[in-house]
Amino acid sequence: MITVLSGGTGTPKLLQGLKEVVDPSDLTIIVNTLENDYFSGVYVSADIDTVLYTMADMINDEFWYGVKNDTFITHERLEELGCPELLRIGDIDRATKIQKTQLMEKYGLSKACEIQAENMGLQSKIIPMSEEDSEIKIITDIGELEFHDFLIKHQSEPDVIDLKFSEVSPTDGIVDAIKDSDAVIIGPSNPITSISPILSLEGVREALKDTYVIAVSPIIGSDSVSGPASKFMKALNIDVSSVGVASLYEDFLDTIVIDIQDNVKKAEINQIINKVIVTNTIMNNLDAKKNLAQMIIDSIP
Ligand code: GDP
Repeated sequence: MITVLSGGTGTPKLLQGLKEVVDPSDLTIIVNTLENDYFSGVYVSADIDTVLYTMADMINDEFWYGVKNDTFITHERLEELGCPELLRIGDIDRATKIQKTQLMEKYGLSKACEIQAENMGLQSKIIPMSEEDSEIKIITDIGELEFHDFLIKHQSEPDVIDLKFSEVSPTDGIVDAIKDSDAVIIGPSNPITSISPILSLEGVREALKDTYVIAVSPIIGSDSVSGPASKFMKALNIDVSSVGVASLYEDFLDTIVIDIQDNVKKAEINQIINKVIVTNTIMNNLDAKKNLAQMIIDSIP
C-alpha cells in the first residue's frame, strides 16, 4: 500500500504517472482541505475534485481545475443575472459539487468523497485530510485576505507578510493509513498551503517518522514551477529552494527528489536528508510523469 499526500496541481501531475505504474487499488491519497469553502451555494473542495478528476481521466489539465471540455452555461447566465461568481465553475463540475454538498450534509465529507470516487469507477482511496473546515488568512501588504481573494481576485500579486491557518482534526483512519503503508509519497505540492496543513494534523508527523517517506521538490532553482509557493515560503523565512523544502521535511524524510537543474545543491541537501535523487522533475508529458513515478517506486526499500 502506498499513501500519497496531495494538493491540487503538482501532485496530481505525478498521480497521472503513478496510476500507470502501480495498481490504483494500492493507492491511498490524502488530500488537502485547507481551501475548502462554499461558493455560489455549493461546497467547493478544489483539491479533492482535482484528484478525483485526475484519477478518473476527466481533469482539465490546462488549469488543474475542473473538468476538461466542460461548458459554462450556468456560470455565464449567473453573470447575466448580475450574480457573477468568484470561481468559474463549469456545468459538469457544478454537478459534482452539488452532489458532494448534498452527500456531505448527510454523511460528512469523507463518505461523500468515497461515494463520488465509487461513482467515477475509481479503485484508489481518496481521503480528505479533515472533515472540519479550516480558517485561512493571508496577511499581505494590502491587508488580510481570504485565500481565494488572494489567489483569484488579486491573482496572488500582493506581497505576503504572513499566513495563518486554524488547526483541524484529522479524518479517522489517516494516521493508520500512513502507519500501514510501505511508503508515503509527498508530491511536489505547495509545501505551505497544501502539505503543511496535512503535516500539522495530530499524529501525522509522528507516523511519518516510522514509515519510508519520499518527497519531490516543487521548487526548482529559486522559484516554484507554478503558483504562489515561493511567496509563502519567503514570507515564512524559508529558503526558496529545494534546500528549503528539504528543511521543512527534515525530521521524517528518508529521500528527496530534486530536479536535475538543482544538481549543485545535492551535497548540501545530503547533509540533512539521507538520500537525494537527482532527475528531471518537470512533468510536462505522460512519459516524464511515468518516469518520475517509476523512480519513486523503485526507491522503496
Ligand atoms: P495547488 O493546490 O493548486 O496549490 O497545487 P499543489 O499544491 O498541488 O501544487 C503546487 C505546486 O506544484 C507548485 O509549488 C509548483 O511548483 C509545483 N509543480 C507544478 N508542476 C510541477 C512539475 O511539473 N514539477 C515539479 N517539480 N513541481 C511542480
